Amino acid sequence: MYYSIPKIEYYRPKTLSEALEILAKVEDSKVIAGGTDLLVDMKTSRVRARVLVDINSVAELRGIEDGGEFIRIGAATKLQEILESRIVSEHLPLLKAAVKSMGSWQIRNLATVGGNLCTASPAADTAPPLLAYDAELVIAGLSGLRVVPISKFFTGYRKTTVNRGEILKEVLIRKSGWTGWSYEKLGRRGGFTLSVVAAAVLARVSSSVVEDVRIALNSVAPTPIRAYRAEELLRGRRIGKELVEEAARVVASEVSPIDDVRSTSWYRREMSYRLALETLSRALGVE
Ligand SMILES: Cc1cc2nc3c(=O)[nH]c(=O)nc-3n(C[C@H](O)[C@H](O)[C@H](O)COP(=O)(O)OP(=O)(O)OC[C@H]3O[C@@H](n4cnc5c(N)ncnc54)[C@H](O)[C@@H]3O)c2cc1C
Repeated sequence: MYYSIPKIEYYRPKTLSEALEILAKVEDSKVIAGGTDLLVDMKTSRVRARVLVDINSVAELRGIEDGGEFIRIGAATKLQEILESRIVSEHLPLLKAAVKSMGSWQIRNLATVGGNLCTASPAADTAPPLLAYDAELVIAGLSGLRVVPISKFFTGYRKTTVNRGEILKEVLIRKSGWTGWSYEKLGRRGGFTLSVVAAAVLARVSSSVVEDVRIALNSVAPTPIRAYRAEELLRGRRIGKELVEEAARVVASEVSPIDDVRSTSWYRREMSYRLALETLSRALGVE
């Protein structure tokens, strides 16, 4: 089948305020970052836009910085820059592991973290680590900035709290002393594929007791999710094989997967259990 993009007007502003003004002024306008989701969606008419506002030249939206308490990642930062960042390697290994599993080198050189979050696909691969890190998302509008915890960012299937005329500016991640982490993505093949299920776990263990744990998954619900009940079950408990198995069963009961082209809901639930078991065992240090 032959797909084409309808005629569009294209703007490439240099500042955030200029980008926001164009978005506010011009009807039927949309932000474009890497275009790796948007252009596919426009070609298949899932998304319609007459005007594209390219944010790649807006310096305020780019880069990775260590701000002491927080790591800041600009929304228009390319996935490959995240993968190659020393700051991310040192402080955010869970995010690095997820980004490493995404697309190809060519896709990662175009695709951005903001685009991945704003598409809000249930399979968005930066979402589980960022949910586990409890990232905060800074959204810019003409009236100023607002900060939304990532747990409140996804409001439904392919929906977010970013309103028309707003731009996701940056992702903020608080540094924290996790003792263990683990990431696992299951796709239909070994690489260059979307998630059938992915799981991300962060854990803090002291004297064999779970002080804190965060579990997040994608592709098992209308939005990427945290497994709050399993986390609650684990907090304050002495680590052990049975406890991890019980927590993995709770994770499988928290998912609400669907059948689609990549998998059945039955398989996704089974794999949620299996991936939770593996990632929890690794992050908690259970043999
Ligand atoms: C071959 C291929 C392989 C892929 N593999 C994976 C994979 O393994 N895992 C995965 O999760 N995804 C994958 N994707 C999907 C896609 O590459 C990612 O979701 C990517 O991160 C999207 O980023 P982008 O910058 O290209 O977004 P764009 O396509 O530019 O934008 C996507 C959407 O977000 C909006 N948007 C973008 N930036 C902002 C912003 N700062 N503020 C407000 N709105 C914004 C746009 O208006 C648009 O609606 C793949 C895509 C392709 C084509």
